[in-house]
Amino acid sequence: MIVSTPAPARLFASGPDMTRITYDIDDADRLSAVDGDWSAFARDNGAPYLADSVLGRPLWDFIEGDSVCAVYRQLLERVRRGSTVTFPFRCDGPGLTRSLLMTMSPGAQGSVSFTSLELLTEPQQPTALLPPPQLTVCSWCQSIWAGEAWGDADFAQWELALQGRQATLVSHGICDRCALALGASLGS
Ligand SMILES: [Zn+2]
Repeated sequence: MIVSTPAPARLFASGPDMTRITYDIDDADRLSAVDGDWSAFARDNGAPYLADSVLGRPLWDFIEGDSVCAVYRQLLERVRRGSTVTFPFRCDGPGLTRSLLMTMSPGAQGSVSFTSLELLTEPQQPTALLPPPQLTVCSWCQSIWAGEAWGDADFAQWELALQGRQATLVSHGICDRCALALGASLGS
């Protein structure tokens, strides 16, 4: 069972300083433009050690998890048919929870523009609980699959635990709630 600790104070809120990252892909899913904070882009995509020579590389190089890629492919299909898709997602860091809003909008000739807007960042205190040995984290809300159910996320907690449990498997997926939410979005 994963227990989430309520955040005591707001560190970062929507306002003129909020982080916004925009990147575009072409009709072959290759990155054609990146605007904004590069490190934040890398962080949002789960690849914090990227070099800055990513233009021309496939979007799929930067998205972890087969099920996550499958959902993005569905969303891209919808966007390329002319819809704009918006969904909230979580991208936590050590001791922090970050809530972001992603907007995918269609461009010319099959291109798609992604805008990731940071809405709220709050501190999160680690707890002493250890995670189960098999971990899958939802790439949208950071819920963790605990072997029997998706639990509330406590990134700092399981990251600390992982440091002492090298063999623990971490993969990226999508939880039932987010799959349902995105499915509803796809079908709307
Ligand atoms: Zn989720």
